[in-house]
Amino acid sequence: MRASEPLVKHLLLVGGGHSHLAVLRGLGMRPVPGLMVTLVSREILVPYSGALPAYISGRYRAEELYIDLRPLARFAGARLIEAEVESIDLAARTIALPSRPELHFDLLSLNIGSIPDTGAMPGAAEHTVGVKPIDGFLRAWDGIRGEAVAALKQGRGYRIAIVGGGPASVELACAAKARILKDSGKTDLGLDIRIISAANEILPAHNQRAREAIRAALRNKNIEILTGTVVTGFAANTVLCGDGGENQKSIEADRIILATGASLPEWPAKAGLAISEDGFLEVNRHLQSTSHDFVFVAGDAATIKGRERPKSGVYAVRQGKPLARNLPRHATGRRLVGFSPQRSALAMLNLGDGGAIASRGELFFQGRWVWRLKHWIDQRFLRKYRDLPQMQPELGIARGLLERREERELRAHAMRCGGCGAKVAGSVLEEVLASIPGIANQGVEDAAKVTVPAGRELWQTVDQLKAFIDDPWLFARIATLHCLGDIHAMGARPDSALAIVGVPFASRSITRSLMRELMLGCVATLEEEDCRLLGGHSAETRELQFGLSVNGHVEPGKALPKQGMKRGDALILSKPLGTGTLLAADMRHLAGQRWMDAALRTMLASNRSAARIFREHGATACTDITGFGLAGHLLEMIAGGPVELRLADVPVLDGALECIGRGIVSSLHADNKLIERNIEGRGESRESARREILFDPQTAGGLLAAVPESKALSCLNALIDSGLEQAAIIGQAGDSTDGPARIVLA
Ligand SMILES: Cc1cc2nc3c(=O)[nH]c(=O)nc-3n(C[C@H](O)[C@H](O)[C@H](O)COP(=O)(O)OP(=O)(O)OC[C@H]3O[C@@H](n4cnc5c(N)ncnc54)[C@H](O)[C@@H]3O)c2cc1C
Repeated sequence: MRASEPLVKHLLLVGGGHSHLAVLRGLGMRPVPGLMVTLVSREILVPYSGALPAYISGRYRAEELYIDLRPLARFAGARLIEAEVESIDLAARTIALPSRPELHFDLLSLNIGSIPDTGAMPGAAEHTVGVKPIDGFLRAWDGIRGEAVAALKQGRGYRIAIVGGGPASVELACAAKARILKDSGKTDLGLDIRIISAANEILPAHNQRAREAIRAALRNKNIEILTGTVVTGFAANTVLCGDGGENQKSIEADRIILATGASLPEWPAKAGLAISEDGFLEVNRHLQSTSHDFVFVAGDAATIKGRERPKSGVYAVRQGKPLARNLPRHATGRRLVGFSPQRSALAMLNLGDGGAIASRGELFFQGRWVWRLKHWIDQRFLRKYRDLPQMQPELGIARGLLERREERELRAHAMRCGGCGAKVAGSVLEEVLASIPGIANQGVEDAAKVTVPAGRELWQTVDQLKAFIDDPWLFARIATLHCLGDIHAMGARPDSALAIVGVPFASRSITRSLMRELMLGCVATLEEEDCRLLGGHSAETRELQFGLSVNGHVEPGKALPKQGMKRGDALILSKPLGTGTLLAADMRHLAGQRWMDAALRTMLASNRSAARIFREHGATACTDITGFGLAGHLLEMIAGGPVELRLADVPVLDGALECIGRGIVSSLHADNKLIERNIEGRGESRESARREILFDPQTAGGLLAAVPESKALSCLNALIDSGLEQAAIIGQAGDSTDGPARIVLA
């Protein structure tokens, strides 16, 4: 995933088949900014079908068979999930995965191959090994080979029956024979491989000369072909053949391999996608499902309406290019390109002995050179997806701002890693920390030790903010106060903190200076709060971020609860509201200096004295007002029943009502408003700015406490005397706690 742009649409690729390889490469070469791409594949190392017989015969090593989806997905900027899709919900646009949450998509592409057609052959699941899916067959193949080699070495015979009369059966029979004889060091004696086909001809889709050449090659290899033999089912080590009447026969085998025609797994059909007459997912010439235009299908699983072709890797490969063009086109609302598969394809059959046969229409070739050509074609294909081009990361900085060497270094760094590699360089961090007095020296330990004073209990909190002003030092000061809010609200004493720092990708010197400003702002503020900084974590992030995990302690049982308010308690708010809307206006260049100055001063006011004053006045409940706004946090304080809120008394920052009146609100505002059903209005219209301010998210907001009515006035005066000039009594707890929690506006 690229982090430089907002992600607005999700393209989900299911299956690492031949066509999706081209899609991934295409996305790497021509990224679609804003498109999130995820590949879900049952396996990460996917075998290339063309190279399979050479691998089975022992001519290829694993490296010459498999394509690694991991680097390819990275190249494409795609998330990679190793899992098997179990179902699709087309109405909800989700796919289900085992032991993971479902995934939502906007656009889906299926390249999931096929499975052998077991048709009316009972016992297939229990007694045979399917040649497809290939990954499953390869796992079984090692077992078959081991058994066969051991049997031959011990002088016992070994029988393999391959059901199906197409190219896969022929190639498999030749390859298996070559490999087992080679590994056992034996001659042909005792190894019985036979091909069983219902058709009257082997390779019915090939021309006459190819068929004759294959028959001759199989005869030479002592591989028996039983054509016109209808398989009716399977029992243990037995292939049952015949018409159900008198012509029953059974063929015994140590292993039975099923290489019959292809069919579609059940789950995509169950989803409700259109199915073609031959039982596959029906697509139009854009490879788009004929029933659901947001689903694309390619490879064996798809049948193009009016352009039906045999299921083969060649067609799956060919469909890669149009699919790679159409998925981004569909996502961006452009016209799709059409695709028409060729009428016939060059078929090359590996004979497992260094020779091969090629045919296309009436053309026919045979010889070692055909194998060499096949080897060249297949390896060229594999190289295309292994040797990925090195893309130059775009730095997006003006020419001439940097020396060439610096630019090279920055470019190399731009290909930066995630995980630990995304940390700010250790040397930069060390330098910065060494230059800042006040960071508690923890020596060389990997974690910070927090000692809780005897007779106290530990409370912990964590919070983080994205920079909202272009002044890292001031931002860190406000963020620090914001993060301390929870501890103050609990009536606990801040003790120590760990910093969480995110700095944007920059040159070393700029990173150093940003970090230094942030850390100095944080440490200075923590010192004022009598809180120590013990350590932290830094990472490169898209924008400047700062947060703290804070530890505080309090006498056991003395922490101020959120939901402890008593009947008739007065509600007192220590700071005015409006930072959310004012910061939103500032981002749009619409907040003047006077408004912002007051807002910043409010945010820079610590909640420490308010917390002390509330405690001294017997507060029964307290919380800090942050992201959910006053209404959201007040609602959290109510265990049940009504609480009165006097809108006119709620203190508001200068300019905040004007900004809200102009429709300028924070991005969280709309979500915060979802609790409106818990508010009963009186007086103010639903849209009035004063009512809207209740949903304004606050940065470093004040504390809201419930104080016994008898002490409310002296508490308010103490707050004002401490410098919190806009503190106000804004409401009162109701007489009952029955019924749902609700706010009643007065
Ligand atoms: C022995 C043999 C030899 C062959 N030789 C040739 C040949 O020489 N030339 C040729 O053109 N064709 C050949 N074929 C045919 C070829 O294998 C298929 O036509 C081709 O593989 C189909 O490609 P595909 O892209 O549709 O899917 P596949 O290559 O089968 O890939 C499907 C992918 O989807 C994944 N997948 C499947 N289901 C799920 C799921 N539910 N969730 C997540 N992932 C899933 C699989 O793990 C796999 O990675 C041969 C077949 C066999 C069996």
